[in-house]
Amino acid sequence: MAKRKGKGARSEGDRNLEELRRKAVEIVKRLEKVYPNPKLELEFENPFQLLVMAILAAQESDKVVNKVSKEFFKKYKKPEDIANASLEELEKDIKSINFYRRKAKLIKECCQKLIELYKGEIPKDIESLTKLPGVGRKTANMVIGGAFGLPAIIVDRHVHRVVERISLSKQKNPDKMEKELMEIVPKELWTKFSLLLLNHGKSICKAKKPECEKCVIKDLCGYYKKSCG
Ligand code: SF4
Repeated sequence: MAKRKGKGARSEGDRNLEELRRKAVEIVKRLEKVYPNPKLELEFENPFQLLVMAILAAQESDKVVNKVSKEFFKKYKKPEDIANASLEELEKDIKSINFYRRKAKLIKECCQKLIELYKGEIPKDIESLTKLPGVGRKTANMVIGGAFGLPAIIVDRHVHRVVERISLSKQKNPDKMEKELMEIVPKELWTKFSLLLLNHGKSICKAKKPECEKCVIKDLCGYYKKSCG
């Protein structure tokens, strides 16, 4: 009896997962028509720059980070340049960024560790990247997906918001949401899915006033059904 119950529950779970998978694929299909070239807003030239910029972008707008980075990377071209610079100098060079003191320390420690562990080469896997100071899963996935073009689920605040609204996952914790999305979204679509949702979250599915009437996935959206449907 108990065995039959367990079997039934499992197949219901499988059906739900299948449904969510189909929904995720459909969302990618529709959003890629709207955003044919989805990308991060951070303007980087190589994985090293994106790694540093992603640390600087915590609680700061990408626009400010882009502006500061233009000058910053003329001076700091490789991890050794940051690792060997004094903290005072780094602080001065990123002073217009929120929490610049803490971030100067983090990027210096990150580059020192990068040299110590990986000879200054940016690793391409999450376990190695998250060993670096200041690098959590979101930053690591940004580098893996955004700079290397490898499969990565990037859960930043925009992706988190859109995923919640379209009811693909209810997880509040971004790392747990990432794990759920890894199950739902086919691996070959991980990066594209993340970048599409990120672009959609910035331009249409905004935090305060989402422009639902313009949205091409509104018929698939739980938030829309509840608030406007
Ligand atoms: S319908 Fe509205 S809330 Fe739903 S994804 Fe589109 S913009 Fe966001």
